[in-house]
Amino acid sequence: MIDFLNLGRLNSQYSLELKEACSRVIDSGWYIMGDELKEFEKEFAEYCGVKHAIGVANGLDALTLVIRSWKIMGKFDDGDEIIVPANTYIASILAITENNLIPVLVEPDPDTFNLSIEGTLSAITNKTKAILPVHLYGLIANMPEIMNIADEYNLLVLEDCAQAHGASINSKRVGSWGDAGAFSFYPGKNLGALGDAGAITTNDCELANNLRALRNYGSTKKYENTYQGVNSRLDEIQAAMLRVKLKYLNEETQKRKLIAATYNSGIDNPLVKLPLWENEENHVFHLFVIRCKSRYELSKHLRNKGINTVIHYPIAPHKQKALEEFQNISLPITESIHNEVLSLPIDPLLSYREIKLVIEAINNFR
Ligand SMILES: *Cc1c(COP(=O)(O)O)cnc(C)c1O
Repeated sequence: MIDFLNLGRLNSQYSLELKEACSRVIDSGWYIMGDELKEFEKEFAEYCGVKHAIGVANGLDALTLVIRSWKIMGKFDDGDEIIVPANTYIASILAITENNLIPVLVEPDPDTFNLSIEGTLSAITNKTKAILPVHLYGLIANMPEIMNIADEYNLLVLEDCAQAHGASINSKRVGSWGDAGAFSFYPGKNLGALGDAGAITTNDCELANNLRALRNYGSTKKYENTYQGVNSRLDEIQAAMLRVKLKYLNEETQKRKLIAATYNSGIDNPLVKLPLWENEENHVFHLFVIRCKSRYELSKHLRNKGINTVIHYPIAPHKQKALEEFQNISLPITESIHNEVLSLPIDPLLSYREIKLVIEAINNFR
C-alpha cells in the first residue's frame, strides 16, 4: 500500500527527540505561555525572516485574529471587503466572515491555482481594504505584483501561509511579504505539530503586541484586560514539538521537492496536467496536485494498484452549504479546478521504487 501521507512513520523518525522535549515540559511544571513558546516564536520568526512570530491555537485563529486586530486598530469597518482566491480552503474565507467583513471571491490563475493579478485588480472597489493571498498547495503567490497593487491602492496584505512554510521568491519567504502572515501547524501541514497549533508572522510591532494580548483574553498584563480577547494560546508541549520539527523542515521540504521532480519528469500521460513549477525555491509541495477530467476513474485505477490519492478539495467554498449567500455567483475556473484536481502521494518518506510505481500506474491509465 502506498500511503498519501503516513504521519506516524514521519514523526517516529524524531521519536527520541520528541519524547525528550515532552519530558522536559512535563518536568518543568509550566504548561502554557512559557519558555518553549518564547523560544519557538523566536526560532520561527527567524526562519521566516520577520521580527515577530506570535503562537496561537490553530491556523484559522491566526487568520481571524489578524483581521480582528486590524479592526481594533481602526483599519477596517464592518462591511469592508477583503479579496481572497475563490478556490482556497474554506478557513481563509471564514476568517473574513467571522469578522463581519465581506470576502470578495476572485478566480485563480488556472496554471498556478493562486490569486490572479488581473482578477485582483478588477475586484477592487472603494470598499476594498485588504488582499488575502493563499499560497495554495505550497506554491508562493505572485507576491511582488500583489505588494505593488497593495501599495498603489493602499491595501493591507494578509498571507495565508498554511500550506507553504518556507516557500520563497528571491529568498524572501512566505509570511515576510505582506503586513502579516498566518500559519497552521495542523499535523499534516509541512511543519506539523502533534495536535493543533498556528502562528502569525509580522514586522509590525503594534500588530504583534495586539495579537499577543488578543490570543490571551485581551490581556496586556496579568488580570488587566485591554480588549475583549479570546483564548487561543499555543501550549508548551506543542511549542516543544514544533521546535524539534522545525529543525528538520528544510530536509523534509527537499524530500518533497525530489518526489515532485521525479513525478514531473516521469509522468507522461496526455490525460493528466502536471502542476506548474517555475524554480527551485517557489514551491514546497505541501501537495502535488494534478488535473484530470476523469479523476474519479484515475483515483480508482490507482487505488486498485494500492496507491492512495486525496482530492483537495472536492467542493468549491461558494458551493458549500455554509456559504449559501455566494451560491449564485459564477466562478467557472474555480469550479473546473474543483472538478478535476487529484493529489498524488507526497509522503516525504516515499521510496524511489514507490514513486516509480505511482508514475507507472498513471502512465498506464487510459
Ligand atoms: C489548514 C489550512 C488553514 C487552517 O488551519 P487550521 O490549523 O486547520 O485551523 C487555513 N488555510 C489553509 C489554506 C489551510 O490549508
